[in-house]
Amino acid sequence: MNLKTVVIGSGLSSLSFVDKFLEKNDSIDLISPDFEFLNKEEFFPNKHIYNDLPHQIYSYMDKINHYFHFNKISVDKNAKVLGSLEFGGLSNYWGCQMDQNFIDDLIGYNKKSKNEIINSFFEILKKFKLLGSFSHKKRKYENDYKVDSFFEKLLKKKFKDLVTIKPMLAYSNNTKLIPKNYYEKFLKKRKIKIHNYFVERIIYENNGVILKCRNQSELKTFYAKKVILGCGTLATTKLLMEFLKIKEEVRIKHHPRLVSVFFSKFKIKNIFTSASSQLHLRSKKKSNSFVVDFRSGNKTIIESATKLKKYLIPFKIILSLFKNFIIFSNILLDSNHSNLFMKMQTNGKINIYSKPKNTTDVLKKIHKKIFNILRNEKMILPLSKNFFPGYGNDFHYFGTLTNNKKKKLSINQNCQLKGYKNIYVIDGSVFDFKVNKYPLGVIMANARRIAKKINK
Ligand SMILES: Cc1cc2nc3c(=O)[nH]c(=O)nc-3n(C[C@H](O)[C@H](O)[C@H](O)COP(=O)(O)OP(=O)(O)OC[C@H]3O[C@@H](n4cnc5c(N)ncnc54)[C@H](O)[C@@H]3O)c2cc1C
Repeated sequence: MNLKTVVIGSGLSSLSFVDKFLEKNDSIDLISPDFEFLNKEEFFPNKHIYNDLPHQIYSYMDKINHYFHFNKISVDKNAKVLGSLEFGGLSNYWGCQMDQNFIDDLIGYNKKSKNEIINSFFEILKKFKLLGSFSHKKRKYENDYKVDSFFEKLLKKKFKDLVTIKPMLAYSNNTKLIPKNYYEKFLKKRKIKIHNYFVERIIYENNGVILKCRNQSELKTFYAKKVILGCGTLATTKLLMEFLKIKEEVRIKHHPRLVSVFFSKFKIKNIFTSASSQLHLRSKKKSNSFVVDFRSGNKTIIESATKLKKYLIPFKIILSLFKNFIIFSNILLDSNHSNLFMKMQTNGKINIYSKPKNTTDVLKKIHKKIFNILRNEKMILPLSKNFFPGYGNDFHYFGTLTNNKKKKLSINQNCQLKGYKNIYVIDGSVFDFKVNKYPLGVIMANARRIAKKINK
């Protein structure tokens, strides 16, 4: 089948691209697997990945298996990565918070590109009427929200080396920005042809791109003039490693995290229906920065906690009764602490693994610091717990491609793959998020920016 411009993937990066692209074009083709249509088969189980999954993902094991099977990716016991799951990918399950602190993170992008990304981010805030405030030079956006008095108190405090900040939240009138909602509200009536396939291989021939695809045992070949890769960092990188015959190890950037639990002296109101955080506490330092996000306990979190830690099951009723006194937080480290790698194996599969490292020491030190701050402010009881869910369980994967022209896996300012003007990359692969610990806003903004460029 001959196609003009093809988007691969249906996560928020792809949909953000498609949305802008269709302002100047009549139709677009999108290749992305929807696992509901695939027959169930027995695949190799990456069982260890499931142990620490959040509650909302727990029932999708088959889909996760399909993802790894069809993408021919294996995961070592020491890595806890989660592939994209189905139509919409990881974006279906994301926690709804965005970071407005990303300007310093646009490493490798020139002033013009940076400005374009900031403008597109600004347009996204307005389009979806996201909750929160953003201000950068002349661009100001305000759609503020109230947080519980517990967090309000923290928000007003001045700390020597920390700042408190409210995250941008991907809600509009309480609608969560997930692919399904994006599609239903903004894209359904547009001309998008969805092809239910996995892209298995990319081949370049006569200045065009051949996409070898599969749905279960059915094989299909598409010929495309232009290809936009938005299938998430893991799948995109894997496809490109095969395409460019990269045998060396590739480092996947991510944000190692520690799950922390504190016990409040006061009841905390759940402002939002989902489990998104009400407040971020971040280090002022730009190098080795971290973010701690806070939310009070709710049903989803208690479910996850008891699934994760079986010894908590007898306490489930008590935990549910006191859920509004429990503060859950993630401590996220900057990408310098990344510890995930991809490498081509002799059997043709790509393996993902991590190496021995003591990142937990760094994370636990930060946990202790936060505990002391909250104790000094007399906000919590002298009790806390923390848990390291493993490398990759932060679900933020990015940074495998750079603007460094010397590297094989590199892109130019327009996110075109080095040497291939008609292959674009629009997912997290093309950024390194050090200061920004919630990448999706920038990923969506960049995808929108690339669509504008192609539209010109
Ligand atoms: C529980 C959870 C909470 C999160 N919380 C946050 C948060 O609060 N803030 C934040 O910024 N980020 C968060 N994230 C991360 C965020 O979801 C990702 O950064 C984001 O989804 C990346 O979007 P994407 O469109 O690039 O990729 P994905 O959402 O992964 O989409 C990839 C798409 O490609 C498709 N695909 C995969 N392989 C192939 C193939 N071979 N051929 C064709 N199609 C393919 C998939 O089906 C999918 O449609 C969270 C993630 C999870 C899981």
